[in-house]
Amino acid sequence: MSTRPLPILPGATLGILGGGQLGRMFTIAARTMGYRVMVLDPDGASPAGQMADVHLQADYADHAALKQLGTACAAVTTEFENVPAASLIELASHCRVSPGAAAVAIVQDRSHEKSWLADNGFATAPFALVYSEGDLDAALADTGTPALLKVSRFGYDGKGQARVGTLEEARAAFREFGGQPCVLEGFVELEREVSVVLARDDAGECALFPVAENRHDNGILDVSIVPARVPDSLAAQARDTARAVADRLGYVGVMAVEFFVAGGRLMVNEIAPRPHNSGHYTLDACVTDQFEQQVRALCGLPLGDTRLLSPVVMVNLLGDRWRNDGPRWDTLLAHPAIKLHLYGKQAARPGRKMGHFNVLDADPAAALQLAERLRDAL
Ligand code: AMP
Repeated sequence: MSTRPLPILPGATLGILGGGQLGRMFTIAARTMGYRVMVLDPDGASPAGQMADVHLQADYADHAALKQLGTACAAVTTEFENVPAASLIELASHCRVSPGAAAVAIVQDRSHEKSWLADNGFATAPFALVYSEGDLDAALADTGTPALLKVSRFGYDGKGQARVGTLEEARAAFREFGGQPCVLEGFVELEREVSVVLARDDAGECALFPVAENRHDNGILDVSIVPARVPDSLAAQARDTARAVADRLGYVGVMAVEFFVAGGRLMVNEIAPRPHNSGHYTLDACVTDQFEQQVRALCGLPLGDTRLLSPVVMVNLLGDRWRNDGPRWDTLLAHPAIKLHLYGKQAARPGRKMGHFNVLDADPAAALQLAERLRDAL
């Protein structure tokens, strides 16, 4: 680890593994604050690469590229959980790295993540680990039916998941996934889904953003509503639980905890070791946004104020909307309290996250109404 003293101040170079939209918004925040940014991503047209001072176009496990990144940067972070933990360890011999490899290794694998949550006393949906077809019968007995079979690694946005009602269906899904390790989860009748984005610094101080209420469509986040329409006691519990997860992981950086609400109770669904789609509302509605917070945590600066300045609704813009002539930006931008964020992706594919917009209104119900109207009109 570098002996460079904290805090790391503007003028220094920061690195990020991954050049997607989260890396792009980190890059914009860092450059706004006067840092230089180096992005490592194999894709020559990556959204973050377009914004960075330097784009290293190489694989995440490329030793020469990791050395170049680690020696040029005062600190390196990541924008996605599937970064090889070994790459984080390699980088940590050159510079400050946050989050650390140990935390990322737990949360990037659903089996490890679920087991870690249960071992540490956090409530989850009923689950069982599946390593072979022979495990499925007992697993279904544990979870009940219907259940969701989810691949342990590299699943996201509902990909690598299948709903199963019988042993035969579970077997077929397991084979479909190539027999790789999976988690079987009992299907929960969801009242709501909520999430908490937070940052934790080296001294263990936490700054938590307000709780977001999230609506998904086909397993992909569609809309976030802030403040979440849940009782204050439940929101406080979500924040306390998210903080406890971060503490228990010894986490440094920005992370998100997604929850199910069922029967008035919270269950942890997933942990993301990075800023989160459900935190995009902070870009326009909070004193500090989640990407500035990522810069602050990475650089050992005091964490920013997470105060909500206005109720807000965030709407994701998926590639499906780019059919025909593409979205009606004139309709959207006609509204003075709409904030549009596009990620600079060249090809629009169904389900691909192309951008989002935030709707701000002092009246939360009016914000939701306008957000839904515009989403449908686009
Ligand atoms: P995931 O990628 O595991 O976060 O799943 C994506 C979405 O699918 C979640 O946000 C939920 O809307 C839904 N989902 C996932 N797991 C379950 C479950 N066990 N019960 C009910 N819905 C689920």
